[in-house]
Amino acid sequence: MSGRLDSGITTRTHEWPGGKRCVAVLTVDFDGDCREVGRKETPLGKNSHGRYSAKCGVPRYLDLCDELGIKATYFVPGYDAEKHPDLVREIIARGHEIAAHGYVHEGWDPGEQEPALLKKSHDILTPLMGKPPRGWRSPGGSKTEVTMRTLIDLGYVYDSSEKDYDLPFTAHGPADRENKLITLPNNVSSLDDYPFYRVSYTPPSEVLAHWKEEWEAIRAENGFFDLTVHPRVGYGSGSPARVGIIRDLVKHMQDSGDVTFVTLEELADWCIARRDAFARDWEQENIGGTHG
Ligand SMILES: [Zn+2]
Repeated sequence: MSGRLDSGITTRTHEWPGGKRCVAVLTVDFDGDCREVGRKETPLGKNSHGRYSAKCGVPRYLDLCDELGIKATYFVPGYDAEKHPDLVREIIARGHEIAAHGYVHEGWDPGEQEPALLKKSHDILTPLMGKPPRGWRSPGGSKTEVTMRTLIDLGYVYDSSEKDYDLPFTAHGPADRENKLITLPNNVSSLDDYPFYRVSYTPPSEVLAHWKEEWEAIRAENGFFDLTVHPRVGYGSGSPARVGIIRDLVKHMQDSGDVTFVTLEELADWCIARRDAFARDWEQENIGGTHG
């Protein structure tokens, strides 16, 4: 073994919740009309795709999760929570996790405004949830050291924004290196509905086949399957046929007997209790620049 680079990729030794071979999380990024409002668009007519989330998409996912017997993580922007407080309460009442996802889905680096925006959404979500959110996913992918330090100060325990690894890990930038956050990566290229429906308009049946391939490959590696869906129409997975393939996919995975579905918060707590197993000894990385 000496001198051999061990990435942990092909020699995975992680145990997962439930004692299964793999762990999976269904993450539902609410992304209602905050996206249009954040872009200074009037969320009506051709710009009303986001409004579908609260009216149809999120209720459909709540029912689907009940049917499948799984709990999901819903990333809810502060603006959408302000507009739909009863829906936020319903998500919590039905046993799911809510995590933070910007105020108006800032798909840009908010710069000096960021700490105030993170705090604003945090303070909107906390009373609605009856407890503070503990997880965050960057809207649009931007992330800086300031982001991480602010999240740590607000008591967050995980970030789900990185795309440079496919297992949870404890170290990245200097703030993370103090092991105050766990990173739960998300793969926005392959395990996210956005590119299939926004870029290529792939038929749902083909998206299902693709995600089944990803699942089988991750299953072979004893890995972490982190699926991101948006309950909108347009680029999202809120409409009946697109929700239908999530049902088919989850059932297919459950039928394997090799997976436990948890929330990201549950997974973060699992990893935090086993920090050593999720630490990586990459050489200290030079995280240059401020853009995610
Ligand atoms: Zn989003």
